[in-house]
Amino acid sequence: MDFELNESQKMLRQTVRDFAAREISPIAHDFDKSGEFPWDCARKMAGLGLFGLLTPPDYGGNGPDRFAFMIALEEVAAASAGLAVAMAMSGAASALVLALGSDEQKAKYLPRLAKGECLAALAATEPGGGANYPFTMQSSARLDGDAYVLNGSKCFISNGGEADIYVVMARTDPQKGPMGIAGLIVEKGMPGFSLGKKDDKLGLRSDVTCELVFQDCRVPRSNLLAEGILMPMAAAMAGIAMPAFGAIGVGLARAALDAATAYVKERAVAFGQTLASFDSVQYALADMTMKVEASRLLVYQAASMPERSPDVTPAFIAGIYPCEAAMEVAHQALQVFGTYGYTADFPVERYFRDARGLSLVAQPIELRKLVMSRIRLGLPPMTPPGGAPPARPQ
Ligand SMILES: Cc1cc2nc3c(=O)[nH]c(=O)nc-3n(C[C@H](O)[C@H](O)[C@H](O)COP(=O)(O)OP(=O)(O)OC[C@H]3O[C@@H](n4cnc5c(N)ncnc54)[C@H](O)[C@@H]3O)c2cc1C
Repeated sequence: MDFELNESQKMLRQTVRDFAAREISPIAHDFDKSGEFPWDCARKMAGLGLFGLLTPPDYGGNGPDRFAFMIALEEVAAASAGLAVAMAMSGAASALVLALGSDEQKAKYLPRLAKGECLAALAATEPGGGANYPFTMQSSARLDGDAYVLNGSKCFISNGGEADIYVVMARTDPQKGPMGIAGLIVEKGMPGFSLGKKDDKLGLRSDVTCELVFQDCRVPRSNLLAEGILMPMAAAMAGIAMPAFGAIGVGLARAALDAATAYVKERAVAFGQTLASFDSVQYALADMTMKVEASRLLVYQAASMPERSPDVTPAFIAGIYPCEAAMEVAHQALQVFGTYGYTADFPVERYFRDARGLSLVAQPIELRKLVMSRIRLGLPPMTPPGGAPPARPQ
């Protein structure tokens, strides 16, 4: 077992760390305020190859290297967790196309995504039920000749409006329950596809989320990614999405810890002493340091496992513990800052707001825990609200 990064991993970390300090940190506050997506930054990130880390060279990428993706995400998140979530969700959508797409779909969509010429989005959540969408999904796709007719709406979709390529979940067979959900690749600008309300969120604000509306949107049959997509998607995504949220949690928590450490050394309180001289502050810093370091090890462990490991527990732990730790560390950092930390003069209030959102993105943390426990207990990973058994695959 080797806990050291190799030379190329260290070089990637340093390159992204320097880039984030130079290009992202100075504008992160402004983009948080405006709730806009920082396209200039994203284009420069594309120049570093950060959008191609999950894609093989055949499709224009420089991967697939999940470990490198996690290293890069931590560094981007330390400067802007919102931007890191946008990068993670685009990466997850393109990884899904790589895992399940036809050769034509991969050749058509992946090179543009890998080069960072455009973003992707993954659209599952709906206004009528988010966490339980496999059971409650209303969006439908009906085959009509050479196209699927897509109707319904999605909400809180990362990169909504900014992305050119959307992997959209819709029911193709209502009889099959969760197994009757398909994934379709929808392009921005397809007739019948429009954007609804943009969200004014508490945190993660440069991860622009908005509603997507589909009204008789004809999606070419060749854009069907997969029928019965949920289980193959879960298998393909656990090893990517879960550690990715964890890596963002690590970056966020590290930024909060670094800010708190610098602050307590400077902040003079009584009788010429600084905050750093108080035991309670020193305890807090030790606690925060342990959470950051433990979280990173969990992310690295998950990213070191085979991508489709039959044991998904490490991936789920990496998607849970670092997100909870980020909330705790951001909370402690804010406490150490006192009232200054509660103002927008310092970034800790943003870390605090961003950390809260991490436990909601894609799957609420309670559900991540439930799925993990149910797998351990040998139960089906999800049951509908109320506990009725899930629909059986036909
Ligand atoms: C920053 C951000 C980005 C997002 N990006 C995307 C995206 O790109 N694509 C996408 O599809 N969605 C996205 N989402 C939406 C996210 O996936 C949903 O918020 C999440 O699935 C929960 O759905 P909901 O908010 O409708 O909560 P609800 O389903 O209304 O649930 C509310 C709360 O109830 C609890 N709960 C619900 N059901 C259960 C259950 N069965 N067992 C235990 N507890 C339960 C949970 O605590 C949950 O948080 C994003 C959300 C955020 C905050």
